[in-house]
Amino acid sequence: MSDLLHAYARVAGNDAVDHLQQLSAPLKGAKFVHVNSTRVGGGVAEILMKMVPLMNELGIDTSWEVISGEDKFYQCTKSMHNALQGDPVHISEDLLKAYEETNSKNADILRPILEDADYVIIHDLQPAPLLTLCPNRKGKWVWRCHIDASKPHPPVWNYLSQYVKDYDASFFSLADFAQQLPHTQYLIPPSIDPLSDKNMDLDQTEIESTYEEFDLDRKRPIMLQVSRYDRFKDPLGVIDAYKLTKQSVPEIQLVLAGGGATDDPEGEEVLREVRDAAGDDPDIHILLLPPDAHKTINALQRISDIVLQKSLKEGFGLTVTEAMWKGKPVIGGNTGGIRLQVINHHTGFLVDTPEGAALRIQQLLSDPEKLKEMGRKAKEYVRNNFLMTRHLREILSLFTILDNQSKT
Ligand code: UDP
Repeated sequence: MSDLLHAYARVAGNDAVDHLQQLSAPLKGAKFVHVNSTRVGGGVAEILMKMVPLMNELGIDTSWEVISGEDKFYQCTKSMHNALQGDPVHISEDLLKAYEETNSKNADILRPILEDADYVIIHDLQPAPLLTLCPNRKGKWVWRCHIDASKPHPPVWNYLSQYVKDYDASFFSLADFAQQLPHTQYLIPPSIDPLSDKNMDLDQTEIESTYEEFDLDRKRPIMLQVSRYDRFKDPLGVIDAYKLTKQSVPEIQLVLAGGGATDDPEGEEVLREVRDAAGDDPDIHILLLPPDAHKTINALQRISDIVLQKSLKEGFGLTVTEAMWKGKPVIGGNTGGIRLQVINHHTGFLVDTPEGAALRIQQLLSDPEKLKEMGRKAKEYVRNNFLMTRHLREILSLFTILDNQSKT
């Protein structure tokens, strides 16, 4: 077994790695391609960054391709993203044309790789039309929807489903997100990589230096939300929760840690709204981090007393798993994938309002034993359910099923 697989076995157990080796043995040498629309920023890039090397380590010839486009393409795909998460947005013909043309241009570049691949996973809606643009494909193609599509805006879903319906299968994080489609849909929640810079153990000096770097007072409690600046992440709701908490815990400090994703054009506008709401409060720290600030985020999650993820819609929320892995109970929005991770009153609290969040923050701050006990449960819950070894096992099982189906 290689050093890397040994390292996974130490965290996830030998059985988890044995199982992966068994499932990957028949796929050795097969060409596997993942496609998404950004190499940095957001959960999909975070997963692929670590899953692709692990697949190669297991002997599956895996590559990661990224489609790109101009401003209109990202405007269109961000609107589609918002529409799948329920916003009743109208997308103009002009933007749809940019979407189709961008996919067509990317298909011209990627066609040789994609048509030759044995297995393809297309992540999210940005590259969804690639399947129809690769008529001589020989492999199995699966569409992976990472977002909360529980109540998509019908005209936008109707448009996208014309591309999605022809895939061999699709998979979602939650049963609630499944759609009317003519193929089998699977449930495979995402995961974190426990060996990555984002999640590995850090030495104490690295953790301690974070206080100074961001001018945080180590003697006072810290609440944190890590997220792209996106309205669905509800950063303004977090500021409201902080302000309510401040009334009874005046020493509280808030850190909002975020950065951009290259396929998210709305970030700057949301960041402006967040800065306006924060005003000149010196205890609100709004951080704009570079995309490779993994250890910084790791350390921030470790020094925080309270971690929030107050999203209004959430496909999964890797930030929740990341914090739980560091032994923090999470106060999360009662929505989507957060519900899969935050088991109310056990691994954290589910909340619907800033008032609810403030109440739970105060409760946890006043009961350090409870905070510690919930954090311990949260970490074990992640170990048993949301590590990359489980995630990859389910993906390889899915393709094994598809292969077996085509043999019978
Ligand atoms: N993230 C990051 N820097 C940031 C903000 C987020 O590295 O400034 C990471 C975060 O740690 C997590 C991922 O991006 O790994 C976000 O994934 P999540 O599923 O929480 O949300 P998404 O952005 O995909 O909606």
